[in-house]
Amino acid sequence: MKVSMLASASGSTDDSLQYVSTFIVDQVVAIDAGCLGAWKTPEDQSQIEHVFLTHTHADHVATLPIFVENVYDPATRPVVVHGSGAVLDSLKRDIFNDRVWPDFIERLAPEGRPFLELHEVRQDEAVEVAGLNITPVPVDHLVPTFAYVVDDGHASVIFGADTAPTQRLWEVAADLTNLKAVFLECAFPNDMQWLADLSGHMTPRQFALEAAKAPLDVPLVAVHIKPRYRRQTIAELSALDLPRLTIAKGGGIHEF
Ligand SMILES: [Zn+2]
Ligand SMILES: [Zn+2]
Repeated sequence: MKVSMLASASGSTDDSLQYVSTFIVDQVVAIDAGCLGAWKTPEDQSQIEHVFLTHTHADHVATLPIFVENVYDPATRPVVVHGSGAVLDSLKRDIFNDRVWPDFIERLAPEGRPFLELHEVRQDEAVEVAGLNITPVPVDHLVPTFAYVVDDGHASVIFGADTAPTQRLWEVAADLTNLKAVFLECAFPNDMQWLADLSGHMTPRQFALEAAKAPLDVPLVAVHIKPRYRRQTIAELSALDLPRLTIAKGGGIHEF
């Protein structure tokens, strides 16, 4: 399985600044669409056939409307956007509502030529797309949020989404015999614990406690580090001295 975290800071030489969030799996599936619609060319974007949304915060859906427009081809099957019922409802009410963006879902979807297809995913029910089994697992954030377990038959990788300390995800992880990595968020430095608590995110102190719940020896990749506090947060993560911890790099490919 090939996973890349898309760079999101236009004009910066630092590809790891993660203002918004998108991961690409095997060039065909995207997890979230923070920067998907601003990635490479429309032809490159058209390779992505499925988008799995973790939740509806702007840093995860910001360029979804642009992406859908970029890849629209009336002659081919539309892109499929997967999300929980709460996520799909929010897409209709809050984004494709003829105010924030034209209603691609119904009004501008002429018979037989839809812009996108919505697919509701449910907790613990795997979806099979493009040779990948993708299973939603609820985590603890301000809004309904799914982490996703992606399994290609050889390797499983967990995309932990945005979350405060959580439990169910680690129960699921414990049962995965082929788990190769967990992409786990660490948004704020320790002295901003108050904001992490209010916003349903984690600090390095909490990251360490979650790491202790993860299966032994499974690599942890720290993601979703708020760019404003990046240097401090990385220093505090490094001080944890966890040998299996790395910091996600933007633009590169992780192979599992
Ligand atoms: Zn969020
Ligand atoms: Zn986020």
